[in-house]
Amino acid sequence: LPMTILTLLFVVIILVTYTSALKQLIMQKQISEIKTDFINNMTHEFKTPIATINLALDAIKNPKIIDDKDKVQKYLQMIKDENKRMHAQVENVLRISKLERNELNIDKEPQEITEYIEDAIDHVSLILEDREGEVHTHFNATRTTVLLNDVHFTNVLVNILDNAMKYSADKPVINVYTENIKDYVLIKIEDNGIGMSKAVQKKVFEKFFREHTGDLHNVKGHGLGLAYVKQIIDDHNGEVFVESEKGKGSTFIIKLPLIN
Ligand code: ADP
Repeated sequence: LPMTILTLLFVVIILVTYTSALKQLIMQKQISEIKTDFINNMTHEFKTPIATINLALDAIKNPKIIDDKDKVQKYLQMIKDENKRMHAQVENVLRISKLERNELNIDKEPQEITEYIEDAIDHVSLILEDREGEVHTHFNATRTTVLLNDVHFTNVLVNILDNAMKYSADKPVINVYTENIKDYVLIKIEDNGIGMSKAVQKKVFEKFFREHTGDLHNVKGHGLGLAYVKQIIDDHNGEVFVESEKGKGSTFIIKLPLIN
């Protein structure tokens, strides 16, 4: 009998070692795929602005153009815009890695969330106009004071609003609701976009997760926006979740504790 037990134990040990080694291998493979994906995405996103800046610089250098003040202004503005885009990309990546190393100092103060929602909507108004979209607010909450960090909270809202426009094939229609439940305020951001399956919903807050959205008006990203959103909302002792159905739009819900 002891012999059988020993053999069994031996088999179990072998199996455990084998599966954990296999798991590690799979994880390593996933990490390397994520890295490759990330580098590909980043390179792709930098390629266009760099090319545009180069073209604009060449144009300005052209003796025929250099005396045309309007044209020079136009090209300078192009350079500035592209530069801004690249800066935003780098900021996104830096923010996430700083958050992970707990290097971001997230001071919070009592604030009325409604103002921040309006402010975030202002931030995206140009893109919304460009896409011929609309946004409607329904501020139903009567108690709206929470402890928050103004910069990060605005970023969170802008990220979700940005996605609401990005992941819709037609003219985006966004509805923003606030309501009180017990000692919480809920912010709901509802879009009429492409929606997502249950499987995708489970993963959207993971770092580097992206669903392939086909050719949907050239949507790009790094799958970091919602990971950042979740980290910030966690840090505010809140919760963030998504309700959605493929083809029928999505609603992102942020739940924050009220302070009075
Ligand atoms: P990114 O937009 O850079 O890919 P995010 O972290 O913001 O990264 O989003 C992760 C993924 O979640 C997206 O690639 C997309 O598939 C999905 N997603 C996010 N917001 C929406 C939305 N409003 N509607 C449909 N899908 C969404």
